Amino acid sequence: MLENLAPQPADALLALIKLHNADPRADKIDLGVGVYRTSDGATPVFAAIKAAEKRLLDTQDSKAYLGPEGDMGFVHALIPYVFGADFDRSRVEGMQAPGGTGAVRLAVEVAKRAGIKRLWMGTPSWPNHAQIVNAIGLELKTFPHMTADGAADLDALKAALAQAEAGDAVLLHGCCHNPTGVDYTNAQWDEIAPLLQAQGVLPILDLAYQGLGAGMEADAYGLRKVLATVPEALVAYSCDKNFGLYRDRVGAFYAVTSDADALAKAMSNGATIARASWSMPPDHGAAAVRLVLEDAELTKLWLAELDEMRDRMRWVRDRLAAAQQVGTVNMAPLGTQHGLFSMLPLNGEQILAIREKHGVYMAGSGRINIAGLTNGNIEKFIEALGDVAA
Ligand code: PLP
Repeated sequence: MLENLAPQPADALLALIKLHNADPRADKIDLGVGVYRTSDGATPVFAAIKAAEKRLLDTQDSKAYLGPEGDMGFVHALIPYVFGADFDRSRVEGMQAPGGTGAVRLAVEVAKRAGIKRLWMGTPSWPNHAQIVNAIGLELKTFPHMTADGAADLDALKAALAQAEAGDAVLLHGCCHNPTGVDYTNAQWDEIAPLLQAQGVLPILDLAYQGLGAGMEADAYGLRKVLATVPEALVAYSCDKNFGLYRDRVGAFYAVTSDADALAKAMSNGATIARASWSMPPDHGAAAVRLVLEDAELTKLWLAELDEMRDRMRWVRDRLAAAQQVGTVNMAPLGTQHGLFSMLPLNGEQILAIREKHGVYMAGSGRINIAGLTNGNIEKFIEALGDVAA
């Protein structure tokens, strides 16, 4: 029977990792994989997480099941950071999920169970968004996320919303858009929120990089604006980047409603989906995040580590933007974009050439991981870019 299976395309980014690992050049540059790197090229465990993990080892006295909702102490401890200290707690409830991916999956599947048939999304987007929407069986409608000059395309979103019908879903990146780095400005969010409300669509907000753009509070501006305006929304949250927990799979799914009954239904449906999918999310990383957030000193340490990461990426962005024009590439937009990623307007040939001639590895879309650039390799990268984009 298994003969009948259609082969699936290999994950392009995983293939790129293999190519990079096999490249013997000492000065190769990996801008492909989407993880933060220090100026030494490492992706270390946060000191705050290490301390919390030690505490967890010393104090954890059982590994018995918690249930499909996971560690609710973790889920609740995040609420003030995501929704704001003053958010009306009666409107929100959540559950732990295996990473932001699990949270997006729960959000889209709960939306489907609520009767939603169509989902609108700006493209390009994180490739897994479309895969999840397709796997769950919603119709995917797309619109351009970015204008040709590297700004967020508000007109395209407005045109999409004008076509959307009440009862459709709209998936929006909260901050640090993957892959473009192009976020809606606060003024644009101020326009978007009432439009979502007027159209009667269900916003699904994906916040996977809070704190890596302009700061924990600033990065939540759009999400909070939307939630203050619409009656209902779903939120997919990842702690895998802002706590450096990638492989521990730490995320949360939240529903926000104006009706306690709808909130309870969203949670009970989420729990049933989780039970049938992974039964219970992995505990370790979420427990470590909870311990960080329950301890003022560890929270301070975590926020300082996050500041350092953001400052480093700001330095890279400033340096790239200062190059102004590299061959045909206008570098200025990189300076105003946010987070781990930006996209360079290179064609397939140029992306292949920069890899083969210069050992610079980037995704086939032209997406680069800003944190892959360091004091030691940024000049070489700019030169290589100038060579292939001449
Ligand atoms: N959402 C976006 C926009 C992402 O870029 C990612 C990861 O790359 C995720 C969600 C999921 O993150 P994870 O499942 O690793 O927590």
